[in-house]
Amino acid sequence: VTPSVVSTVAEMSAWSEEVRARGERIAFVPTMGALHAGHVALLHAAREHLPRDTGRVVLSVFVNPTQFGPAEDLARYPRDLQGDLAIAAPAGIDAVFAPTPVEMYPPHHQTTVRVAELEQGMCGATRPGHFVGVATVVCKLFNIIRPHVAIFGEKDFQQLAVIRRMVVDLNMPVQVVGMPTVREPDGLAMSSRNRYLDPDQRERALSLSRALFATRARSAAGERDVASLLAGAQALLAGVVDRLEYLELRDAETLAPLTSMGERPAVLAVAAFIGKTRLIDNVRLGPAAAEPR
Ligand code: AMP
Repeated sequence: VTPSVVSTVAEMSAWSEEVRARGERIAFVPTMGALHAGHVALLHAAREHLPRDTGRVVLSVFVNPTQFGPAEDLARYPRDLQGDLAIAAPAGIDAVFAPTPVEMYPPHHQTTVRVAELEQGMCGATRPGHFVGVATVVCKLFNIIRPHVAIFGEKDFQQLAVIRRMVVDLNMPVQVVGMPTVREPDGLAMSSRNRYLDPDQRERALSLSRALFATRARSAAGERDVASLLAGAQALLAGVVDRLEYLELRDAETLAPLTSMGERPAVLAVAAFIGKTRLIDNVRLGPAAAEPR
């Protein structure tokens, strides 16, 4: 069955209202399109979070302009709705919300959502306004689609933390589910931006996951010295990536910077440029993180 593609807020809201009036649940996966197996895993998880044989899965495809900085890749971000439908349909989706920018941000739009502390540092440090754009669009999508459950990837670890905080702070009646990062067979985290990479860059992009995995292995083997863990990872990236933006060890729940490895789950996160392409990745370290995922 081809899912219905909905492009207006009014139509999407009416669709959701009808589903809810029947007493059915809605599971939602927000994306910017250019779908890959990571997104498909979120769609399958969405279905699994609905009662058997009932409920509806909604996918949104919207390249949100407000989360891009002026020098970022908004204009060249890959857009291919037909291709996305072909990739998403086998996962069994019921509706696709694909609005235009002006439908989401009509003239005089001026309200934003800011998660003040979690937006600091990591990606927030070099992408000012990014997480305001993310939180605002996700809030709007939640209000339009009114999902019972929404699925996000841990690939965007800080984003997931921001969304979780927003939902708690603003009392949004949505269950937020985070899913592990889906990787290429060689370890590269799947990303819509991987298609920007030429063969040499694709090879060098592997250094991110390799550095993270090697560091996780050292941590699992008992290395507790944060400076040493970070230095080891840095050495694996130096001279391979074109610019290391950050490499940080943080508390996996609060995102507070860690100076020592203790009993709390940690996340090792990296952002680096390969050519003009900015890539991010992360792995969990510490308790319950020994298993590769
Ligand atoms: P995007 O369209 O890339 O902005 O991402 C839409 C959703 O897919 C977000 O929740 C991302 O965290 C998630 N996602 C992106 N890449 C992956 C991946 N490799 N594995 C799992 N989830 C992902």
